Amino acid sequence: MKRKINILITASILGLMALSGIQAYLINNTYKLEKDAFIEETKRSIFRFDDNIAEIDSIYETIGDLVINQIIDYKRGLLQKPAFLSDFAKTRDAINSRYIELYQNTFKEQGVSHPVKFQKRLKSIVLLDSVANDTLFFKSTKEQSLHLIGDNFDINSAYGINNSQTTTDTERDYVEDGLQKTINFEFQVVTQDYFNIDGWEQEVLRRMSGILVLSIFIFALVLVLLYYSIKNLITQKKIADIKTDFVNNMTHELKTPLATLTLATKMLKKDDIKQQPQIVDNTIQTIERQNKRLQQLIDQVLNNSLGYQEIQLNKELVDIEAYVNTVLDDFMLSQKSKAIRLNRNFSIQNQKVKLDKFYMTTALLNILENAVKYSDGDVIIDCMVNSTSALNISIKDYGIGISNKDKKQVFDKFFRAGNTEVHDVKGLGLGLYYTNQIVKAHHGQISVESKEGKGTIFTLTIPFH
Ligand code: ATP
Ligand code: MG
Repeated sequence: MKRKINILITASILGLMALSGIQAYLINNTYKLEKDAFIEETKRSIFRFDDNIAEIDSIYETIGDLVINQIIDYKRGLLQKPAFLSDFAKTRDAINSRYIELYQNTFKEQGVSHPVKFQKRLKSIVLLDSVANDTLFFKSTKEQSLHLIGDNFDINSAYGINNSQTTTDTERDYVEDGLQKTINFEFQVVTQDYFNIDGWEQEVLRRMSGILVLSIFIFALVLVLLYYSIKNLITQKKIADIKTDFVNNMTHELKTPLATLTLATKMLKKDDIKQQPQIVDNTIQTIERQNKRLQQLIDQVLNNSLGYQEIQLNKELVDIEAYVNTVLDDFMLSQKSKAIRLNRNFSIQNQKVKLDKFYMTTALLNILENAVKYSDGDVIIDCMVNSTSALNISIKDYGIGISNKDKKQVFDKFFRAGNTEVHDVKGLGLGLYYTNQIVKAHHGQISVESKEGKGTIFTLTIPFH
């Protein structure tokens, strides 16, 4: 049964872990899909933002003019290739802020609500000649390419769009040595646009918040349900175990008197026995004793199961010393099977306390009987009585002791510690439960200290008021 529960718990936990793994995988996928959809959406809205805006066209024209002038200078031998567009930054900085303002306005008009940055980069300029192409500018990687215009941001984390290649046929006049000249050439420009969205992670997470919250909620719910199911299962198992133990113990306890009774009645039926009044008398006494024992057992189960709220106390003022002495004397008289040495150590004088004598006696007897039951060989019991702010009665034995683990449960109903298995002592596991209930009904407390193999000490604390 225990193994089954362990397997069940392990399987449930593994199942839950697998389920969380799948859930995490699905959420991660959703995250990626949402991210792609979001980037795609942004891409679409900024794809052609520069169409039909005259001012943006004129900015591009300014850049175009600069490029054309440099090509002319190059053709005239006034500019070397390495210097091509090397001082471009000045021109860009002069027009860039207006350009940024323009495209930000366009994004807003298109309903892009999150902050998008945009940048155009130049990859290459090639002069197309009928004989051979002449590469004036060329950068193979996106990091090396020239930041033409737009926001400045880390290009590595940016998204590329609009890879465009334009070929322009140009004819320009210029003056050289006082003479008007015309130059004619064709060139090809390759540019690429990039965009970057600040805080896109938050935006994607915001879009996923519904599914995230729901997942976490369901996960927590399953976790709590699992926890309670397992806890319930363990409690049920404990109760079932306790009940089985109790039934076993009870059967065990009932067997001896019943067997004796059967034997005694059989004897009384015999004719030769009937002629011997002495044996008949003895047998009847045995029957009476066993009857009493059976009655006691049933009473024990009935009474000892009472909870402290159900105990009706009939308190009276008693002299502590006299009362405890009477209980101990009666107890010593009732114990004949084992040799008992009882030490009394009282540090109270003429003190009185209000208690229910009948119930308190049962409580003390339960502890004293345990001291005898759970001691091997000769029994030594120390009974200490003193009063601080309350009345303290300690009963100490030098018996088999209780393990630390079991100590916490000795006051539980039907609980019998592991030491009863080793030492085979009979009992129902009700004595200390009932004792505790009686002490509680008196608004007192009971505590236990014990060392395995050394002994046990129970202390009752009963308040004076
Ligand atoms: P009964 O209901 O007949 O008293 P019981 O003695 O088994 O049965 P409790 O008196 O409630 O039940 O004690 C609970 C358990 O605590 C015992 O089964 C025993 O294992 C342990 N125990 C109690 N007193 C002592 C003691 N003085 N020394 C060692 N173990 C003890
Ligand atoms: Mg007992």
